[in-house]
Amino acid sequence: MGLFDKFKEVTKKVSEVENNIYNEKRDYLEIYERNLELEKEIAQRTSELHDANRRMLTLQHIWDMMNSSTPLENVMEAIVNSTQGELGYMHCVIIEKCTDADGEYLKILAQSKDELIARLNSIIGAPAIQSRRLNYDKKSVFADALNQKTIIQSRSLDLSLKAVLPEIGQETVAKVLTNQPIKSVIIIPLFSREQEFGWFCVFSSREELADAETDFLGLFAKQIEMAITIANLFQAVKQEAVTDALTGLYNRRYFEEELNKEIARAKRLKQPFSVIGIDLDFLKKINDTYGHSYGDLAIKTIAEVLKSNARSIDIPARIGGEEFNVLLPGISSEGAMIAAERIRKSIECQEIDTIGHITGSLGVATFLEHTDNAEELLELTDQAMYTSKRNGRNQVTLAKPIGETSWQEIAVNTFIDILSKNRVPMAQKLSKDLCSKLKAANDEGEQKQEVLYTVADMLNKLYNPMHEQGIVKNKVLMATTLAKRFDLPKQEVDNLRVAILLYDIGNLMISPGLLQKATPLTEEELAKIKNHPIIAAREILKPISYIQDVIPIIEHHHENWDGTGYPNKISKEEIPLTSQIILIIDEYFALIEARPYRAKMSSKDALNVIHAEGNKKWNMTLVNEFISLIEHDIV
Ligand code: GH3
Ligand code: MG
Repeated sequence: MGLFDKFKEVTKKVSEVENNIYNEKRDYLEIYERNLELEKEIAQRTSELHDANRRMLTLQHIWDMMNSSTPLENVMEAIVNSTQGELGYMHCVIIEKCTDADGEYLKILAQSKDELIARLNSIIGAPAIQSRRLNYDKKSVFADALNQKTIIQSRSLDLSLKAVLPEIGQETVAKVLTNQPIKSVIIIPLFSREQEFGWFCVFSSREELADAETDFLGLFAKQIEMAITIANLFQAVKQEAVTDALTGLYNRRYFEEELNKEIARAKRLKQPFSVIGIDLDFLKKINDTYGHSYGDLAIKTIAEVLKSNARSIDIPARIGGEEFNVLLPGISSEGAMIAAERIRKSIECQEIDTIGHITGSLGVATFLEHTDNAEELLELTDQAMYTSKRNGRNQVTLAKPIGETSWQEIAVNTFIDILSKNRVPMAQKLSKDLCSKLKAANDEGEQKQEVLYTVADMLNKLYNPMHEQGIVKNKVLMATTLAKRFDLPKQEVDNLRVAILLYDIGNLMISPGLLQKATPLTEEELAKIKNHPIIAAREILKPISYIQDVIPIIEHHHENWDGTGYPNKISKEEIPLTSQIILIIDEYFALIEARPYRAKMSSKDALNVIHAEGNKKWNMTLVNEFISLIEHDIV
C-alpha cells in the first residue's frame, strides 16, 4: 500500500472516530435532555399525585364522618372547611333551598370559617347572613345551575350577592366587593334522591376554572349529596322507631324513655311534672257503626288535637289502640288540669266526617305531688282516667295521692268496671242496678264496705244458689284477721280484701248447669271447672290496670302447698300466703255450706277435714292458726 493510501486510511479512521465521538455526544445530549424532561414530568406527576392524595384524604375524612353518627351539620362543616383550608379556596358555603308557607327561600347550612364571612357580616349588619332568610331568585345563577344541572362559574359577584340579599343596597354591595381577593364564584347544584337540595358554592381567587377542578368539585358535591341522603335516611329511620305509624305521635317506647329521663330530672331539680292520660270514648261503637277506618279517623283526630295543644317540650304519645298520654315537663297538677281541660274541649269541638263529634275521658297525675314512683304515676293517671269514664266520660279527673285510694274504693271501681264494660255475661238490668248502687256508694263514701259485700254476695248467688247473704263479709273479716296474724303489710292485706271479693268471679263464665251438676263430672267437665274460673278471672281482671297486684293472688288460690294444685303446680313459698289464705277460707265455707251433691258439714267436721289436708294443701302453721281462729270464735 502506498503512502497516499495509508494516509487515506488513517483519515478515514480519524473521521470514523470523530463521527463516533459526535454521535455519542449527540446521544448523550439527547439522553440528558430527555432526563431533564423526565424529571420535570416526575415532579409534575408527583405534585398531581400529592394533590389527588390530599383530595382523597379530605374525601376519606368526610366519608368517615358520614359513616359515624356525626350529625349532618358537622359533616357539612367539615366539608366546607376542608375545601376552603386544604384545597385553597377563599370561601365555601353550602346553601339549602327551602319552602314554607311563605314560599321558597334559601338557608345557609354550613360555611367555612374565615375572615371573609366576618367581613361580610360587619358590612351588611345584623342579622348575620347565616341566620337570614335568603332570597331565592328564579332568574339568578343559582336557579340556572339547578335547572341545567351543571356547575356554573360566575364572575359577576355583585349579581350573585344581590340575588340572595336583595334588601342590601348597591353601596353595600360595592363595599363588600372592593379590596378583596375573590374573582369568581363556582356554583355546584346539589340534589338528594333526585330532589333539588341546594348548592355548594366555592369562592376562588382565580377567574379561570380548570377541567380537573370541575371534575374534582363535582366529585366533592357528590359526597355532599351522599351525606345529605344518608342523614335524611338516618333521620327517617330514627323517626320511624319512635313514632306511631297511624298518628305520627310518639310511640309507647319513646314515651317511656322520656318519662324515665323526666323522672331523673324531676328528682334532681325537685320539680314536678305531669302526665295526662286520654282515652277515646265509645270507640267500639264508632267501629261497629261506621267501620274500622272511621275508628282510625277518630284516633287520628285525637292525635291532631294533642299535637296542636302541645308545647315544644311536651311529649304526646299513643300508648295503645285508643289510649294516649301526654308528658308535660315542669308542670304541676294545677297547670296540667288546665292543659287537660283544654284538650278535652278541643276534642269535643272537632267536627269529623260522618261520625260528627267525639269525646275523650282524661286523667291527670303529677310526679312528686301524687307519687315519686314511675309505675305508680302511670297507674294513677289510668285510675283517674277511669274515674272520668265511670262518672260519665268527657271529663277530666285529677289523681288522688297513692295511699289515699282505699281498698274499698279500688274494689268498688273494679266492680263498676266489670259490670259497665259487660266483661261477664249478666242480665242488663241487674248489672245496671248493681252499677248504680256502687256509684252511689262511691259518692257517699261511708257505705262503701256494706254495698261491696252486698254486690259480691249477689254475684256469688248467680253461680251458687246456695250462697247465703253475709258470707262475703265473714270471709273478708276472717282473711284480714288471719293475714294480720302473719304480720302481712297493710298493702298486702288490702290486696287480699279485694281478692276475696273477686276470686271466684270467673265462675260467671261457666254455665250454671255445670257448676250445680249433682252427678259425677266427666274429665272434660272437671277440667273446665278446675282451670277455667282462674283463667277467666285473670282475663276479666287483666284490663283493669289498678288491680294488677291482686290478680296473682287470685291466680294462685288453688295451688297446694305440696305442688299438687293448679293452674301452675307451684309449691311452698312460691305460693303467695294471701292465696293460701283464700284457699283455706274458701274450703271452710264450701264445707259448711250445702252442695247439690252433699249436705252441709258442721264447723267441727270441716275443721277436721282441713286438718287432715294440712301439709298437703297448706303449711301446718296456717292450718293451726286458722283452726284456732274458728275454735276460739275470734271471727
Ligand atoms: P270507653 O268509652 O269505655 O273507652 O269505650 P270504648 O268502646 O272506647 O272502649 P273499649 O276499651 O271497650 O274498646 C276499645 C276499642 O277500641 C276496642 C278496639 O277494637 C278498638 N281499637 C283499638 N285500637 C284501635 C285502632 O287502632 N283502630 C280502631 N279503629 N279501633 C281500635
Ligand atoms: Mg275507649
